[in-house]
Amino acid sequence: MARVFNYIKATWFGFITLPVLLIIIQFLARELHLTAFGVIITLYKGHPLAINYIVRWLLLIEKEAMQGYNLISVILAWCIGWIVIADWVRDIDAVFGGIFLTYFAYILYLSWYHHYAVIIYFPESFYQVFASLIVAFIASHFSKKRRGISLFERLDRAGIKVPETYKRTTNVPIKCPVCGVTILSNAKYCWKCGKDLEKN
Ligand SMILES: [Zn+2]
Repeated sequence: MARVFNYIKATWFGFITLPVLLIIIQFLARELHLTAFGVIITLYKGHPLAINYIVRWLLLIEKEAMQGYNLISVILAWCIGWIVIADWVRDIDAVFGGIFLTYFAYILYLSWYHHYAVIIYFPESFYQVFASLIVAFIASHFSKKRRGISLFERLDRAGIKVPETYKRTTNVPIKCPVCGVTILSNAKYCWKCGKDLEKN
């Protein structure tokens, strides 16, 4: 069940993250004056952007999206998106599945919701998919090496020292070895007889 949830998570993240990233990339190229260096992305044309137009770019089925920096920006949006998602989801199969499911979800969105006749070209319309699969694979390889850190390690890095006895794990409930009463926590003392439970 958790596996299925990972696929849904990856697909949902992909579906909403990629259009946002594409807009951010084209916005940054403009704001950082990369246009002066010939980096011209023609997504925004001075009037409000329609989501379905952005999605057509992301699917590389729009002729304009195939040109120069437009193509690079689309591939970049997919790659950055899936690197981030691979780090969030930490399930490489779900990430790979999510890449294809997101692509498929965009096609459904265009064809069902917008009644747009989607024409896919092979391999041109799949450049971003191939690139995403490669970077997601590399990203998952690196995130596997980077072990997750515990809450106590986080606190420790922030300079908060937690006593070692707080970190021990106890299978509750326990029975007091002296009076036999049930104790539902990893308390230091028995609540009834006062026995020091850390000393045996
Ligand atoms: Zn006791």
